[in-house]
Amino acid sequence: MDRARSARDRQTLVFDADDTLWENNVLFERTVERYFDWLAHPTLDRAGFRHVLNAVELTNIPVHGYGTQSFLRSLGDCVERIHGRPATAAEREVIAALAPELVSGHLELVPGVVETLVELSGRHDLLMMTKGAVAEQQRKIDASDLAKHFRSVHIVAEKRPENYRALVAEQGLTASATWMIGNSPRSDILAARGGPARGVHPEPAHLGAGGGRDPRRRRRADAGSPPRAGGALLMAADPLTAPAVSCVFVCHDGHGRVLLARRGAGARDEPGTWDTGAGALEHGETFAAAVAREVREEYTVDPLHVETIGVRNVLRGTAHWVAVVNAVLVDPAGVAIGEPHKFDEIGWFAVDALPAPLHSQLPATLELFVSSGPCGTRPTSP
Ligand SMILES: [Mg+2]
Repeated sequence: MDRARSARDRQTLVFDADDTLWENNVLFERTVERYFDWLAHPTLDRAGFRHVLNAVELTNIPVHGYGTQSFLRSLGDCVERIHGRPATAAEREVIAALAPELVSGHLELVPGVVETLVELSGRHDLLMMTKGAVAEQQRKIDASDLAKHFRSVHIVAEKRPENYRALVAEQGLTASATWMIGNSPRSDILAARGGPARGVHPEPAHLGAGGGRDPRRRRRADAGSPPRAGGALLMAADPLTAPAVSCVFVCHDGHGRVLLARRGAGARDEPGTWDTGAGALEHGETFAAAVAREVREEYTVDPLHVETIGVRNVLRGTAHWVAVVNAVLVDPAGVAIGEPHKFDEIGWFAVDALPAPLHSQLPATLELFVSSGPCGTRPTSP
C-alpha cells in the first residue's frame, strides 16, 4: 500500500554512471597523454595523433564496443597506422601498462555523490543505467559501493531511445515521472527524450577549454560533455518542452553536386531514406564547430567552408527542432562513411537528379540550399 502511494508521489530518477557518479574520461585522457609521451613520434604532434586515434576508434568501436579493452586495442592499432607495421606483443604490453587505473578498475567518485544519492533516495526511486562492457561496468559498480542506493542497476550496450523505452516497459515506470540524469547530452539527454523519459544533466562546474568536442571521447566513454573539473552535482532541468537545436548540413562539392547518405535499416528515423547530415548542437558550441564535428563524424572529412543558409522550425508530432541549415564545401576525395551503424550508402547527386526515397525533411532543406545562390549551385572557393 505504501509502495502504491509512493509510486504516485515519487519521481523516478535514472542515473548515468561514467562521468556522472564517478570519474571516467579523465582516466582515458591520462592514458592518452602517457601513450603520446611513450610514442615520442619525431613529427606527429598531439593534434595529429588524436586525428589518427579518432579514425581508429571509429573503426573499432562498432566491432569491439566501448571500454578499456577496446580502447587499448585502438592504441595498439595506432602504432600500425603511425609506423606502418603491427604493434608487437611487447608493445601491446607496454601500452596496457600505461593505463594502470583503467586496468585495475581504480575508481574516483565525483565529490558529493554519496550525500546527493542519500538525500534523493529518501524522496525518489533511483535507478542506475550505464553503458559499456558488462564485466567492466559491473566491476566499477562494485568498486563504487553505490548500488545500495539504487532500486535496480542496468548495464546496456548502447543508450538509444529503444533502450530507454525497454527500461520504462520492463520496470513498469511512468514515463512522465521518469528523468534521466547524466553528463552526456547525446546519450543521456537527447536519447532519453527520444524515448519516453525526460533528461537532466548535471552542469559541469567548469567547461573544458577549446570548444571542439572530441568524438572519440564521447564514443569511448559516453561523455558528450567536457570533463568535469570537480564540483557537486547541480541539477539543471532540461524540460521536455524546450525545442532542441539541430545543425543540418548540406555537403557539396562546389560544382552543384550534394552529398547524401542512405539511412541504414536500423536507423530510428525513416530508415532506408536518403538525407543530408545533421546533429544536435551541444552546450557551448558555435554552429560552425557543431557542423565541423558532425561532418567529421559522419563523413570523415573536414569542412573547407561552412555557410549558414537558413533556419527551419520543425514540428513533427511531439518533437520540436530548430534546424539551422548550413552549406558545407568538402573535398569529395576525402569523403567516406564515418558511421556505418547509421548509414549504409553515400553518394553525390545533382539536386535535379536525386535518388529515392528521400527523407521527409530533405526537400525543404535542399530548397534552402538551392535558393542560397552561389554557395549552393555555383562553384565557390573556401
Ligand atoms: Mg556518462
